[in-house]
Amino acid sequence: MQTVNPSRHDVVIVGGRVAGSSTAMLLARLGHDVVVVDQASFPSDTVSTHSIARSGVVQLRRWGLLGAVLGSGAPAIRQVTFHALGESVSRPVKPKAGVDLVVAPRRYALDAIVAAAAQRAGAEVRTGVTVTGLRRDGDGRVAGVCGHDRAGAPVDLRARYVIGADGLRSLVARAAGAAVSEARPAGGAAQYAYYTGIGWAGMELYVAERSFAGVFPTHDGQACIWVCTPSADAQAARRRAGSRAEAFGELLQRSAPGLAEQLRGARRISPVQGMLRQPNQVRQAFGPGWALVGDAGYHRDAVTAHGISDAFRDAELLAAALDQALDGEGSEESAALACYKQQRDRALREIFEITCRLGAYPAVPAFIALQKQLSAAIDTEAAALAARPIPGQRLLATA
Ligand SMILES: Cc1cc2nc3c(=O)[nH]c(=O)nc-3n(C[C@H](O)[C@H](O)[C@H](O)COP(=O)(O)OP(=O)(O)OC[C@H]3O[C@@H](n4cnc5c(N)ncnc54)[C@H](O)[C@@H]3O)c2cc1C
Repeated sequence: MQTVNPSRHDVVIVGGRVAGSSTAMLLARLGHDVVVVDQASFPSDTVSTHSIARSGVVQLRRWGLLGAVLGSGAPAIRQVTFHALGESVSRPVKPKAGVDLVVAPRRYALDAIVAAAAQRAGAEVRTGVTVTGLRRDGDGRVAGVCGHDRAGAPVDLRARYVIGADGLRSLVARAAGAAVSEARPAGGAAQYAYYTGIGWAGMELYVAERSFAGVFPTHDGQACIWVCTPSADAQAARRRAGSRAEAFGELLQRSAPGLAEQLRGARRISPVQGMLRQPNQVRQAFGPGWALVGDAGYHRDAVTAHGISDAFRDAELLAAALDQALDGEGSEESAALACYKQQRDRALREIFEITCRLGAYPAVPAFIALQKQLSAAIDTEAAALAARPIPGQRLLATA
């Protein structure tokens, strides 16, 4: 068996997309030695639609990345049209918390922008590295990761902290023994495909019985067309239809007949993708030598399209806690991480509750009332984030 001399760092982060790379960028800006590893290469796509809520846009702005996201060709979305109960209402995105737009960049663009910012800040980003296990010290504390690169060469990285930013099926969470501290009934299905050939004035949202569908305008005049439904409905449509695309078409027709009609003049340019059953769960946030961020630590139904914003918010909370923990020791360290857990659990609460209720698809008037609550909760979250000091602000000019 090949052996390798381990390299030693302050922090090793497993997973380099929105949660991992933003945590790495902030820690590096705070002066820490950080390595991010990901089995994927960037730019690359992942299964996700990609509307970023106001609170996520606030983070991009504060971190100096909003210009790059808009510069990638993702259009600024300044109008949202809500279609429900036979009425359509268009509203501008009001200026609040320092932003007057939302945006839906493709993940291949967004994730690469954040990973590049982490690199510029001084983090090492190693792609094509699969982590297969955790290293522990003599006291059982997590002290590093092991794995291999694409060629099969062993990788051994030691660190004071290992961060699992490795998504819903997190290897770090499993290997560290992170318990699911809260499991709610699983959410529904979210499916999407890309279309070209129609210009959209903004974001379109369609509410109907047992469904929520819409349009996120994205790069190159394309649009992400999506439909969220209870899992049972999505699965039944798949069983009835000859293909995923046919099942998607059937769900769209039922959810948003006006949109389905408009799409007859467009061309689908991607396969239909998505998840048919999305867990709603919170995992233990940290333990000796490790912590979780992003979907690894908290996963919710995509019906509220809030996962990227959750990842950005929690990356900042975790980076601030690790900054403190790395500069202290013993009790200071556990106090800093306990603070991360407390802040994360408090910050996610309201939108998690709304998500679980939306994911149960109540009757249309109740669904609309929950959407209004969601919008208010996002505004509150955005204002709170905008009021925080920016970690590593000194280095923002070089971002
Ligand atoms: C259908 C769908 C639609 C969605 N729509 C939206 C939306 O519109 N807006 C929104 O805000 N959110 C949306 N989300 C949620 C959003 O996609 C997630 O919350 C977000 O991707 C979480 O980011 P992350 O960085 O935590 O994890 P991920 O994006 O899952 O990234 C994890 C990374 O870890 C790497 N990794 C995993 N295991 C290992 C290993 N062992 N070794 C090395 N690398 C590893 C993977 O390669 C991956 O790159 C949607 C999700 C789905 C499923």
